[in-house]
Amino acid sequence: KKKIVIIGAGVAGLASAIRLRSKGHLVSVYEANEYPGGKLTAFSAEGYRFDMGPSLFTMPQFIEELFEVANKPIQNYFQYKRKSVVCNYFFDDESTFSALADINEFAEEASKTFNVDSEAIVEYLKRSKRKYDLTSTLFLEKSLHKFTTYLSTETLKAIIKVNALDINVSLNAYNTKVFEDDRLVQFFNRFATYNGSSPYKTPGIMSMIPHLEQYYGTFFPKGGMHSITQSLYQLAKDIDVKFHFNKKVDEIITEKRSVKGIRIDSEIIEADIVVSNSDVVPTYRQLLKKHKAPEKILNQPRSSSALIFYWGIKKEFPELDLHNIFFSEDYKSEFDFIFNKKDVCDDPTVYINITSKEEKNDAPKGCENWFVMINVPSNTGQNWDEIIEISRANIISKISRLLKVDVKELIEFESILDPRKIESNTQSYQGALYGAASNNKFAAFLRHPNFKRSIQNLYFCGGSVHPGGGIPLCLLSGKIVSDLIQKTN
Ligand code: FAD
Repeated sequence: KKKIVIIGAGVAGLASAIRLRSKGHLVSVYEANEYPGGKLTAFSAEGYRFDMGPSLFTMPQFIEELFEVANKPIQNYFQYKRKSVVCNYFFDDESTFSALADINEFAEEASKTFNVDSEAIVEYLKRSKRKYDLTSTLFLEKSLHKFTTYLSTETLKAIIKVNALDINVSLNAYNTKVFEDDRLVQFFNRFATYNGSSPYKTPGIMSMIPHLEQYYGTFFPKGGMHSITQSLYQLAKDIDVKFHFNKKVDEIITEKRSVKGIRIDSEIIEADIVVSNSDVVPTYRQLLKKHKAPEKILNQPRSSSALIFYWGIKKEFPELDLHNIFFSEDYKSEFDFIFNKKDVCDDPTVYINITSKEEKNDAPKGCENWFVMINVPSNTGQNWDEIIEISRANIISKISRLLKVDVKELIEFESILDPRKIESNTQSYQGALYGAASNNKFAAFLRHPNFKRSIQNLYFCGGSVHPGGGIPLCLLSGKIVSDLIQKTN
């Protein structure tokens, strides 16, 4: 039985806590905020409820596993249902496309909307599946950096050369080669944003993401995304994980290349093992000041961040579903703004998430709770107040044109989240949503490992380390950490 301290109650911290406690260790979680969940949180105001961060729920099997390892019945905590419509798309030329969950129906619908045969779509998804099957166990489910899975330069070169993986071309180059219709290319390019990257830079292997969405499906948790946090928190408490809120950790204490505990102000808390769920950049810059930081890893460019308007809308829109995308006219320029100019273009792609489509109580009768998000660069000191004002007007004019209604008149409640607040609420470096961007083919190898060779008993989980950001990968990082700890102790 080890005494384990976890820094941060983000989804990866919660997953690590549940797994480690289930193995019999004594686990305490220290969280800077007064609530658990980190980015996965929510708020209510004036009759509306909003999930604040993640809105797309995929790979529920990783949540299920946590209840299995803790030996508790999931149905007492967490319920979810599969969506039959994945997302409604609105293109700038006013054409629309409803992405259906069933692969054959999806391909059929696509062939009616775009210049493409349904077989070409099915073939694309088969190739996506192959990419996932070839790489998932190696890249996602284990620590890439331990001896048993450590990749020699030769192996690495061999992997990169496998043509079937499309690592040597950009996602856009790959999609353009396969499809002629620009709208379909834009549709499949969008999956780069699932890890905050640019389709013009991220490698073609990212085309495995649509396979995950189509094959494993997209889901809606009863009560909204926040119920993921609430149920994992409840589960952790029920198996006797100890939580301490409003406790911002100031230092990870080490002695003779081994972890000894943490410090909060002048209070020292001893531990055999420390797991940091804090972003890896502040973990080094603030908590491990005496240690040499892995500069090459920490200096990787950040993934995109988000600007979100939470709007209470006093009207219902039957043409909208839970997930809706209003594409920009010039996708290339949009990403050039985000990753090269570090600015926001005048015609950004707008994503609208409406949970009141699934949970009537999330908005007053006859109204809808709109979570309106655009991708923006990470925070490097831009004039966000100005960007917010300009983007708000651009978004309203775009949505109003495509929905043929004056959206401005319908907004009866508004709250705003920008990269500065994401950073201050969760300590995520530059407010990036997914840690470092995957804008080059070596990105998987440039994420920080889940352990540290030079400091014993220190582990890392969460979206800024291996295997990456997004709820499923964060949950997997908790599994990798707990497996590593179990093997070593
Ligand atoms: P975080 O959620 O970043 O939490 C870290 C926690 O550690 C925080 O609570 C913080 O307070 C705490 N902490 C940090 N430092 C300290 C310290 N020194 N002492 C004590 N506590 C500390 N993912 C999806 O899968 N689907 C989506 O649709 C999606 N959309 C997103 C939209 C938005 C707007 C955002 C913000 C994110 C989105 N993501 C999405 C990404 C997803 O939210 C994250 O990848 C995931 O929630 C990150 O979890 P985490 O465990 O890494 O930590």
